[in-house]
Amino acid sequence: MIPTLEENLNRIKADIHRLSPHPDKVTLVAVTKRFPVSVMQQAVNLGIDNLGESRIQEALEKFEKDPLSGVIRHFIGVLQSNKVQKLVDHFHWLHSLDHIKIARKIYEKESSINICIQVNTSGEKTKSGLRPESVQDFVKTLQKETPGLHIQGLMTMGPLTEDENKIRHAFRLLREIGDVLQTYETDTFSFREYSMGMSSDYRIALEEGATMLRIGQGLFGPRPENQ
Ligand SMILES: *Cc1c(COP(=O)(O)O)cnc(C)c1O
Repeated sequence: MIPTLEENLNRIKADIHRLSPHPDKVTLVAVTKRFPVSVMQQAVNLGIDNLGESRIQEALEKFEKDPLSGVIRHFIGVLQSNKVQKLVDHFHWLHSLDHIKIARKIYEKESSINICIQVNTSGEKTKSGLRPESVQDFVKTLQKETPGLHIQGLMTMGPLTEDENKIRHAFRLLREIGDVLQTYETDTFSFREYSMGMSSDYRIALEEGATMLRIGQGLFGPRPENQ
């Protein structure tokens, strides 16, 4: 039997309580990229109130059909700089900041969108994000050039491997980088959010202190192919 969305949700909630050192601080972001509006509505009806999308155009087409009022919208994909206006108009969170150019554009628009800085903790060339050793300098630059941004924490993607130790190492590295950044906290910069863990590796991320899980297929089943 294929588990229902509700069963998957209950399993993930139970995992959060079983594995996280601070379950009450964990937000589940249901990643609905390539899933239709009907799936987003099902999620919301079950009480899911954070949805993640990775393409602006696709997301806006879906929110046009149903704005799903009350839902907190997370952008988790690669952002082109000509999409910043749409981002700040339609989303509450950006998980994937890794270019000063994007930061400047968000700052110019005086947006208070919540932001996580993406770090490439695995070194995989196909992955976005800053190199771990560049994050501190990036934060210093943000503080100088874009001090009013609402920086909330860090985001990473686990490496594509079965090796649990490598995955754990990547998540632990993100936490260590975040620890160092505590000294850079200001009125609008804090580093308390750790967006890490997807369907295949969220249990490890929970053990390593994730505060935001980004889960799609583990809730909704296999994702439809790109049209
Ligand atoms: C698609 C995606 C996810 C969710 O992946 P699943 O395997 O469906 O859980 C999480 N984070 C990012 C950045 C993604 O693009």
